[in-house]
Amino acid sequence: MSASCLTIRLATLLLILCCTQSAWSETKWQVGVATVKITPEKSMWMAGYAARKSASEGVAGDLFAKAMAIQDEQGQRVVIVTMDLIGVPRLLRDQLETEVKDKFQLPREALWINASHTHCGPELRMTRIPPLDGAPAEYEQRMQLALDYTAKLHQQLLEIIDLSLKDLKPANLDYQHARCGFAMNRRRPTVQGVTNAPHSDGPVNHHVPVLRITTPEGKLRAVLFGYACHNTIMGFNQFSGDYAGFAQQYLQESHPGVTAMFFTGCGGDQNPYPRSKPEYLTYHGRALATAVDAALDTVPKPVSGPLRLKYDTVELKFAPPPPTAELEKIAAGTAEPSSSHARRLLKELKDTGKIRSTYDYPVQIVQFGQDWTVIALSGEVVVDYSLRLEKELAPSNVMVAGYSNDVFGYVPSFRVLQEGGYEAGGAMFWGPLPGPFATDVEDLIIGKVIELVGMKPGK
Ligand SMILES: [Zn+2]
Repeated sequence: MSASCLTIRLATLLLILCCTQSAWSETKWQVGVATVKITPEKSMWMAGYAARKSASEGVAGDLFAKAMAIQDEQGQRVVIVTMDLIGVPRLLRDQLETEVKDKFQLPREALWINASHTHCGPELRMTRIPPLDGAPAEYEQRMQLALDYTAKLHQQLLEIIDLSLKDLKPANLDYQHARCGFAMNRRRPTVQGVTNAPHSDGPVNHHVPVLRITTPEGKLRAVLFGYACHNTIMGFNQFSGDYAGFAQQYLQESHPGVTAMFFTGCGGDQNPYPRSKPEYLTYHGRALATAVDAALDTVPKPVSGPLRLKYDTVELKFAPPPPTAELEKIAAGTAEPSSSHARRLLKELKDTGKIRSTYDYPVQIVQFGQDWTVIALSGEVVVDYSLRLEKELAPSNVMVAGYSNDVFGYVPSFRVLQEGGYEAGGAMFWGPLPGPFATDVEDLIIGKVIELVGMKPGK
């Protein structure tokens, strides 16, 4: 080896060391991830479609819960949990909130839980639901399986939160985005009112936001990506994460060692189309994974700290229920689900002396300095919320998630309330809430978001 060659090699080595050093010194974040498989080990009743008449039969795709812990330069932390499940029970969130505070000193605003809303996951129960009109034959076994599953899930979530915090390592965060087109509005106006059918003229949000996590050396480690659409391709009796489960699987296969996490946007009135054939699970899963890969090909926008975390509730009002005499008349009838709903409300009135008139609605904000803001809304939020907030809070990089922290039912916009239909209040006849919400629901939620974000609209 000549002296000049050695000199060049030493200079190159020095350059590499300097570059590595400078990359390390720029790394202000620490990130940790953990995953647990949550596919039920035995047959269970499934969540999402009341029309199912029997329990699950097999697995079309495994279900997972994943946690990502992010710590800023000041040591402030947030843990993001995503789950391939129908929703987040409020009680589960409340219990976890208390436990992560005691065990890991994480305040409630430092925990964001999102569900993919897959309609091919297990039924979740934190408490026994008393049957209104006599227990069906399978009631005891069905209820016990759901209670056992949810109790185990609770422990599994605590474990992955713990593991993600133990996995904290230096990392860089970037924001990227692309688009994906299979979500379509499902509220088709007809002379009989709004029906659940593909409506290509209705509002959509095809945005695919991606938070990219890389090592200080630039190697991809994790992606957190979202899409505003129901996971309702199939209503069969096999467990499956639906398109979001397949998208996560494809990304992890094409980027070995990477953790891919999906969160649901404001997809309350959006369905994947076409649907109802198993092959669309893979087609749409592949389309979304490809959109994430497209985002990863764009120029990344660095995300810097510090973290700014907010969590609060806003009191939403329900429209007044029908007078008692009218409820009694509906309850005596046979039109379902209205008569069962009326009987539930009358029972509530008898047991508590009133029918609930408000809902304490959680709103969460996770801000990454001036660079990226996550707005995590509860319930099945319709797309109008994300379209409005992205516009009103522009030019900030704002990402609006629904299905977070408490998935209790649909959250219509003012427009959807006026139009009527399933998401406006029709769906509430299947549940315990009086519904529909009062007409100021959208303004109350947006008002709370603006207050917590601390930004004036248009600034
Ligand atoms: Zn839904």
